[in-house]
Amino acid sequence: MKNEPLIGPDVPTGLYINGEFRDASDGGRFDVYDPATEQVLASVADGTIQDAQAAVDAAAAAFEGWAARTPRERGEILRKCFDLFSAQKEKFARLMTLENGKSLTDARGEAAYAAEFFRWYAEEAPRNIGEVSKAPATGARILVQHKPAGVAVLVTPWNFPAAMGTRKIAPALAAGCTVVLKPASETPLTMLALAKLFEEAGVPKGVVNILPSRKSGAVVGHMLKDPRVRVISFTGSTEVGRKLLHAAADQVVTPAMELGGNAPFIVFEDADIDAAVEGAMIAKMRNGGEACTAANRFYIHEKVHDAFVEKFAAKMKALKVGNGLEDGVGLGPLVNAETRDKVARLVEDAVKRGAKVVTGGKRPDGKGFFYQPTVLTDVPDSAECLHDEIFGPVAPVQKFKTEDEAIRRANATEYGLVCYVYTKDLSRGLRVSEKLETGMVGLNRGLVSDPAAAFGGVKQSGLGREGAHEGMMEYLETQYISAVW
Ligand code: NDP
Repeated sequence: MKNEPLIGPDVPTGLYINGEFRDASDGGRFDVYDPATEQVLASVADGTIQDAQAAVDAAAAAFEGWAARTPRERGEILRKCFDLFSAQKEKFARLMTLENGKSLTDARGEAAYAAEFFRWYAEEAPRNIGEVSKAPATGARILVQHKPAGVAVLVTPWNFPAAMGTRKIAPALAAGCTVVLKPASETPLTMLALAKLFEEAGVPKGVVNILPSRKSGAVVGHMLKDPRVRVISFTGSTEVGRKLLHAAADQVVTPAMELGGNAPFIVFEDADIDAAVEGAMIAKMRNGGEACTAANRFYIHEKVHDAFVEKFAAKMKALKVGNGLEDGVGLGPLVNAETRDKVARLVEDAVKRGAKVVTGGKRPDGKGFFYQPTVLTDVPDSAECLHDEIFGPVAPVQKFKTEDEAIRRANATEYGLVCYVYTKDLSRGLRVSEKLETGMVGLNRGLVSDPAAAFGGVKQSGLGREGAHEGMMEYLETQYISAVW
């Protein structure tokens, strides 16, 4: 290894292929920045097409042995991953704050969430259950079993550097697949640190390979041409998801896509307003708004609009903005200048069209990609922030009059990931939930992510599910044997 990591000797910066950290085949590297200070944190090996080939070769060579392990053995290794990760949660949380910018509170929450995928899938590995039945017409036996699909390529985003990786790696390993994971170039360090943990837990060489690369399109595209790759699991923008779906079609590879969102947050006139405000803070501000599940449009019944806005804006204003590592900071910087500038542009556009700024609305002076927690009211339907994923700490609020209107406006988007609904009337809550075109609903809850629940969207928010038993099924192929005896 040429360059020693700048953020501590225990964080590797090489490509992790076949159980070893190595330089890129052409020696290329790229810088990773701290978004709070704009300083370089580390220089990381920049994987090439040759490296991608080596990673797929390693994963393919390891596949037979890993798939042949008993489900219990695989489960016990995953359980070890959970124990090791849990013991180092604070280290991972600090690393995530450094490379992503999120507050340490958010990072600690993510570390706990990320670890849980190992525990859940440690328990799920032995629950790969088939079935036997008799063919109705012939009486022949129908034997159904689910077999590991092969090598899985995993592409993860920067907003949850640990959890988006463990949410894919744990079910893949539980199913018996081997993986090549390409982390986002903004935040590759967390996954590289995790690679060492896999080794310690007893994951055999080649089962998990981590391939940072700035040449994401070329490198992932190359891997998807390899017939040994049978699954592509991606979390990120709908735009990139579409490209990967096209590439997957060429080799008829199973796609699992967690894409963008445009989550509505509906508060009915009979809601507990304090609970709705608490939920809104989580749905909007968890991870600084950089989440596909982030509430993107607030629809508040006209009778409670002013009371909600007053309490919500007061809480938003009270959030301390600063370096995520500092005590008491509730909102760190956005991940990079581009993301911060997009947020600023969306606010300017809304204001130009007539929206009022109740709090925030500015980027603070000085270093770091910060943006103030912002609440906008009187936002016209034409404002771009209601149609585009904001991915930042901005809450556009609108009024509504009737239940039907709230549902119609919530559904008026090409996205369909999650919707939040606040009402004390459970029958209304369930009635509305069923009419929502989303994969998930938070009913009197501002948080839906849970390793034990199937996470995913409909419409242009994606295909497939992560978490729960369904998450493991994405890495299994069903085989049916017709037999007589
Ligand atoms: P991207 O979708 O571009 O990036 C996500 C991942 O895909 C990264 O690992 C990236 O690698 C990789 N990638 C990018 N282009 C390709 C490609 N052609 N082929 C294969 N992999 C590729 O998200 P951005 O970082 O650009 O964020 C843009 C917007 O996307 C955000 O503002 C937000 O709206 C949305 N987004 C949604 C997420 C979600 O959780 N659903 C997560 C992140 C973003 P690299 O980093 O090297 O470019």
